[in-house]
Amino acid sequence: MSTIDEIKSKIDIVDLVSEAGVKLRKAGRNQTGFCPFHDNKHTPSFVIWPESGTWRCFGACNEGGDIFKFVMKREGIDFKEALQKLALRAGVEVQQIQRETPQQREAYDHLRSLLEDAVVYYRSHLFNNNEILNYLRQKRGLTDSTIETFGLGYAPHGYDNLIKHFSGKYLPQDLVDAGMLSERDSGGHYDRFRNRIMIPIRDENGKMAGFGARIVDPNDIPKFLNSPETPIFTKGHLLYGLDRARKPIRAADQAVIVEGYLDVIALHQAGYENIVSPMGTALTEDQLRLLKRSTRRIVLALDPDVAGQKAVLRGLEAARSAMDKEGELGFDAHGLLRNEARLQADLRVATMPDDLDPDEIVARNKEEWATLIEQAKPIITHVMESLIIDQDINDPKIKTQIINQVLPLINDLQNSIERDFYSQKLARTLGVSENFFTDKGYTGQVVKKDRLAKRQIFDKKQDLLLALSSPRRILEKEILAFLLEEPELNHKVDRFMEEIGLKELLLQDFSFTEHQLIYKVIYDAIRQDAQDYTKYIRENIPQHLNDIYTELMNHPTIHPESKKTLSDYKAEKWFKVRSSDVMLENLLQDVIKLRKLILRENNEEINSLKNQMEVLDTEKTIIKGYDELVQQNTRLILSLDKAVLLVSRRR
Ligand SMILES: [Zn+2]
Repeated sequence: MSTIDEIKSKIDIVDLVSEAGVKLRKAGRNQTGFCPFHDNKHTPSFVIWPESGTWRCFGACNEGGDIFKFVMKREGIDFKEALQKLALRAGVEVQQIQRETPQQREAYDHLRSLLEDAVVYYRSHLFNNNEILNYLRQKRGLTDSTIETFGLGYAPHGYDNLIKHFSGKYLPQDLVDAGMLSERDSGGHYDRFRNRIMIPIRDENGKMAGFGARIVDPNDIPKFLNSPETPIFTKGHLLYGLDRARKPIRAADQAVIVEGYLDVIALHQAGYENIVSPMGTALTEDQLRLLKRSTRRIVLALDPDVAGQKAVLRGLEAARSAMDKEGELGFDAHGLLRNEARLQADLRVATMPDDLDPDEIVARNKEEWATLIEQAKPIITHVMESLIIDQDINDPKIKTQIINQVLPLINDLQNSIERDFYSQKLARTLGVSENFFTDKGYTGQVVKKDRLAKRQIFDKKQDLLLALSSPRRILEKEILAFLLEEPELNHKVDRFMEEIGLKELLLQDFSFTEHQLIYKVIYDAIRQDAQDYTKYIRENIPQHLNDIYTELMNHPTIHPESKKTLSDYKAEKWFKVRSSDVMLENLLQDVIKLRKLILRENNEEINSLKNQMEVLDTEKTIIKGYDELVQQNTRLILSLDKAVLLVSRRR
């Protein structure tokens, strides 16, 4: 299986699209909703085909594609970026991506050594400033040896200290690239960090990446200021303290995530070294993945305000956006559970008592920290308990509210034993019978059944593979295999289609992004004459599509059922004479079949959308528009039927 197929087999398009905020409802075998790409609040026009892993908007966009296209469009990124993103999500390794070129490595090393110099520079300012030193020693309880170990420093007042200090040694552009300067609106630069405690941030290998900077003056904002994103400082990929914590994490077979850099340092000083912190934003999957290399047991030590009832009662979705603010570790139970399952990690939550931060806890009593971590609870238990604190659970309204928030999380669990366990627990806690959740009276039930049904399908790898062999995919692959083998056929196909009044083969005929990209190369190849077509294609296939290209080159194109490849056929003499004719005929049949298939699927969906809209009492003009679309498609299907006859008569 190619990398791209593997990624597709591991990501459920329904999950992906729902997570992007599109509310979907089941309609037959498919799911429909409001298109996220154009403004539409009244007419559902967005359809997902879970079986082929594709989507389409029948409204203003009139566009569709697969998971890659969805992410590319949604986030405005290119295929390569989407590939990286989805590969991470699927837990699939993508080779040969983002490898530093020698020139890049040289440039990055230059930035890193600049940052090392900055560490030394800030350190000298710290040890010349008793006020700041005393704050660290007395208020934060740090020893000089800890201050040295973590390379803490101080950025003095003023806008041009660093510029002046480094002028002559580094170019202003280097300082900008390393994230040390900010740009003035009027042009020119000034020191980004002023009157702040400087905390060097290193990657997991101990290489300098950037700085975190904490205020000294309580009136300054923001409280924490990080380096901006640079080629070597990517917030979502770094964990503060991991360079020092990696070995202790392995030794303890456990990692603890806290919210602040200074907490990491204080805990380390107290003898707890398996501690890291994200960069002041919500925890990312990449970060969890980084930890997963050393342990699967991960504890989130959260500020009770963030993790607690306040956030949870506001609704988990709301909490997610509210907590994404700089300086607060996001707690999104849904996202965490998903990551936990995907990464097969064991995620737990520890809450800090008495409104204390971790550094205050170890200052009060070192052993207390170990106990708190020992008592960390699974995410669902944590959510349940946080919701119940100070609530009158005998109030039916509150009961329902709690069920509404916890049940979706339970239903999302992969493992049926776990699902049963937590349903029982929830029922017991709230004093309701367990049947309550499955009774018809409870609205959450629909979701549950649906989810379960869906999961049962997707649990089985076999079925996931089935999604990869949807008729549409197979046809697309076959068409590409023909064209790769003999690119000239493309001209012949186009000419035939034109003769019978149909559109030539187009990029839009392909629903799967990787197929579109490959067809683009073929399309370009036959429109240039500097190079042999096949050679041009071989040299221009994007690197990350190499495995698919190879697979297609070995595709049994003529008679799929015979498992013979094209070269097998070529070895047979008769084939040499007739190959092009046979291929063209098969290719034409495939193109027509594919178009018909798409039109039929589309009509089916348009009709179902129409039915939904009639229920929603939509304006008549829109419904009429859909009717016209169906009629247009039907006319096209008829002309394709005629085309089939013409193709077979060619023989
Ligand atoms: Zn749309």
